[in-house]
Amino acid sequence: MSYTALYRKWRPATFADVKGQDHIVKTLKNQITSKRIGHAYLFCGTRGTGKTSIAKIFARAVNCEHPVDGSPCGECDTCKNIASGTSLNVVEIDAASNNGVENIREIREQVQYPPTEGTYRVYIIDEVHMLSTGAFNALLKTLEEPPSYVIFILATTEVHKIPITVLSRCQRYDFKRITIDTIAARLKELTDAEQIDVEERALRYVAKAADGSMRDALSLLDQCSAFHYGETLTYDNVLEVLGAVDTSIFSELFRAVAEDRTTDCIYKLEEMVIQGRELGQFVNDFIWYMRNLLIIKTAKDAENMLDMSSDNLALLTEEARLVDTETLMRYIRIFSELSNQLRYASQKRVLIELAFIKLTRPSMEQDLSSILQRLNHIEKQLENGPDLSALARLSAQNPAPGGQEEAPAGGDETVTVKIPKAQLEDLNQISGEWGKIIREMGGTVRAGFRETRLEPGGDGCLCIVFSDINSYSIGSRESILTDLQEFIAQKYGKSLTFKTRLAQTGEKKNTVYVSDEDLKENIHMDVIIEED
Ligand SMILES: [Zn+2]
Repeated sequence: MSYTALYRKWRPATFADVKGQDHIVKTLKNQITSKRIGHAYLFCGTRGTGKTSIAKIFARAVNCEHPVDGSPCGECDTCKNIASGTSLNVVEIDAASNNGVENIREIREQVQYPPTEGTYRVYIIDEVHMLSTGAFNALLKTLEEPPSYVIFILATTEVHKIPITVLSRCQRYDFKRITIDTIAARLKELTDAEQIDVEERALRYVAKAADGSMRDALSLLDQCSAFHYGETLTYDNVLEVLGAVDTSIFSELFRAVAEDRTTDCIYKLEEMVIQGRELGQFVNDFIWYMRNLLIIKTAKDAENMLDMSSDNLALLTEEARLVDTETLMRYIRIFSELSNQLRYASQKRVLIELAFIKLTRPSMEQDLSSILQRLNHIEKQLENGPDLSALARLSAQNPAPGGQEEAPAGGDETVTVKIPKAQLEDLNQISGEWGKIIREMGGTVRAGFRETRLEPGGDGCLCIVFSDINSYSIGSRESILTDLQEFIAQKYGKSLTFKTRLAQTGEKKNTVYVSDEDLKENIHMDVIIEED
């Protein structure tokens, strides 16, 4: 039996099925019932908010022989032909892969001839910001004098990349992120219909993790129910599958910081290291947590700004009282700087520990060089594995006796591998942005790609190395790799493919890649990965 992903199976067929974009649906339906249809529409907003779905319904509705309250009837020949993909009246173009001037010229040729059946020919251009300048100019000419039977629907996640000349010719619709309530209600409806037994709390969590994207919500739910097929899907199952940690850790951590309990902070961090949490992500999540506290302290309508349950809000409000606004801002500043430093740091954990010490011992902050001095010492000790005693001593303001040089850890030598220059450039660029890419893609990727790294995978290909088998099995799915590929194409204009592998236990990570050209120039170069 073939399995259809929930988000494909439950793609809305009528306007009534579209959730969370009521303002847009209402306007479009009114246009259809009053027959005042425009020629160019621009749909903008984050991924998974319903842009393409609404565009498709609209394309059917304008052609439908008997629209019902502005929605396509789904019964007439035109509706059926469009739904089965045999109609020439609806043309979908993905500008990410068809972005050249010749692609748009082709459309201009086509639009000279009126449709043979139905009323309108509708062009849906997805990710329109990917068009080349030439293509935009060609498109503009058509938008300037559109034949009466042509409608363009341009969809984009990055409206700031659309030329103003094109913007000014379109009716613009801004798609909102969908609220947790709306997503949760839709998930409930759908799990009832699919007879998936699921805890209410689990659905809320998925809705929250999807961060406003219905599509992400459905693929996360898919992922969770696949793992626990035939059982009741519980809140704990969801946390486990999504690799998420309850926010209570942030609450505990924040209280420890506010009460200047340095040692507790360090131990909490140790806990997270043991749980295998990706530290860069942890820092960003903690910043976000403190940002919410700051909003509660400073904004009048914090309730509306923070989309969270009243229970959580009450808890946060109580926590926000522990420190004054100035102090909270200082915390956020220190952690933001930390977040930047971590991107290229090899000793993430030590830097985070340093930040906690800064937060909890402001008096020490004035004497940065002395901290660095102590830190160097700890760094050396930490290389041989987690040793909390040094930090505990440090936090007790009792620096460890110096001068004890320990033998360096064995088996950590650096391996140099040469690869073609183009591959090295791809690798460096994407590796440098990897954390950010994972964060921005959100959903499954954000949850499953923690603790991954990249290595060259051949021409135009990168290999994602997972250290955990669960994340590996989720992250290797084709749909996920395709999403990633599309994201990279959109964001960086690079056409890269991705493959995956699971890291071997004890595998060396100290591989340095150099381009074959560089190697030719510097035959005797010494490659050193980090300075000690
Ligand atoms: Zn119809």
